Amino acid sequence: MGARSAGRNILLSGPIRALLPVASWRNVCFMDDSTDRLLPKPEQHSKFWQNSHSYFDRVYQTMDLDPIWRAVLSTPKRVLTVSCPVRMDDGRIQVFTGYRAQHNNARGPFKGGIRYDPSVERDEVMALAMLQTWKNALVDLPYGGAKGGVVCDPRILSMAEKERLTRRFTSEIMPILGPVTDIPAPDAGTDAQVMAWILDTYSMMVGHQELGVVTGKPVHLGGSVGREEATGRGVMNILRKFLATQNKTIEGCRVAVQGFGNVGFHTARLLDERGAKVIAITERAGGIAVDTGIDVVAAGSFYRERGTLNDYPHGDAITNEELLTCDCDVLIPAAMENTIDTDVAGHVKAKVIVEAANGPTTPAADEILRDNGVTVLPDILANAGGVTVSYFEWVQGLQNFFWDIKRVQDELQGVMERAFDAVNAKADEADCDYRAAAYTIAISRVAEACRLKGLFP
Ligand code: NAD
Repeated sequence: MGARSAGRNILLSGPIRALLPVASWRNVCFMDDSTDRLLPKPEQHSKFWQNSHSYFDRVYQTMDLDPIWRAVLSTPKRVLTVSCPVRMDDGRIQVFTGYRAQHNNARGPFKGGIRYDPSVERDEVMALAMLQTWKNALVDLPYGGAKGGVVCDPRILSMAEKERLTRRFTSEIMPILGPVTDIPAPDAGTDAQVMAWILDTYSMMVGHQELGVVTGKPVHLGGSVGREEATGRGVMNILRKFLATQNKTIEGCRVAVQGFGNVGFHTARLLDERGAKVIAITERAGGIAVDTGIDVVAAGSFYRERGTLNDYPHGDAITNEELLTCDCDVLIPAAMENTIDTDVAGHVKAKVIVEAANGPTTPAADEILRDNGVTVLPDILANAGGVTVSYFEWVQGLQNFFWDIKRVQDELQGVMERAFDAVNAKADEADCDYRAAAYTIAISRVAEACRLKGLFP
């Protein structure tokens, strides 16, 4: 393992080489004075925004593209901030802030999840929208990238409050939504029920059922079979493909998973079914470790019922920090961004990290991991299974023709494996790590779409 861990930066060529003193992502700098003036200064943004842009810059600087394109490719086309007054169960009115960031739609309608979490903020949504653009391009879906979110704690809202909030948020962002315009999906803190409320609110306003406006819907309301587990299944597909390049299989792998929601649970379950030993899992409040392997399905039922793994009777209690540095072969962050930072990176014992969450590794931590021989399978590749089956759902909804589970799983596997092969080949060709390879492919595709539309010089 670790073939990609010591990848070098691709050599600069053409006009970019003349503009940049060093092609190092440690030394990310603006391309020239004219683009510098077009863009907000990084220090005006959150850490996560800066991290996402530094991953973009690190690769962009090696790509021999005109520096002026950088502004077009790295800034969102539109960001809408809305205020959502909602009547709470006790009669009070509470005002929630929501966002929808639409990053780039050169390749098709905007597409990306909606997150409900207290940590949601404008910079985070903008950064996630940009990641979504690269992800959709990398798995070659005919979509641009978007992301939305509402600042709220879904765990303390009643179902009725969550429904009223969702309907209000939908009506506030309605002017920029639509089946050929911008198509939301679930993300952290939202689920199929939330998508059903979005579908219904939108459909009420346009006067007919509009299945294509949202994906991740319940199967009985035009959703696709296999969508709920799709992100986890895609993670499993990518890990299996990577292990094959090392002449290894999932069977017997010791795996630790941080985050036990939709993505973490299904990833752990599918790996367990294929013979991996899931030795540790955590949620926000901590989790459990069992050296001989956790009964993932039983732990999942407990977690769904109680909303926590606290007091789960089988296994030793473990903190999130302990999980990230535990003795395992494969570490799978499946919670939130920035969880693997410089404090953690030097202590990671896994030889492979599969980024099931969006943005879990900071650039500085990424560098430490690379120096330590840890292979990172990046988020825009590893967790693209969710949006891929969302695409299948969208196609099915537009055609009113629904597929069976085997077709969904086979088509998903095909998309994920083709994407892995492309990234693997690019990493070989450019002698770079998987993240640089994935970004290079994705950015080239988006840039090419922009060029063909005449948006660039
Ligand atoms: P979820 O809300 O279903 O689950 C999130 C899990 O992470 C929960 O178990 C929660 O307790 C845990 N968590 C939250 N904050 C944490 C913290 N600080 N430390 C440790 N654990 C924490 O969310 P999800 O849909 O599973 O999404 C998880 C991640 O995967 C997010 O980064 C999301 O953007 C990404 N993602 C989700 C999808 C999807 O289809 N749902 C697709 C692609 C990427």
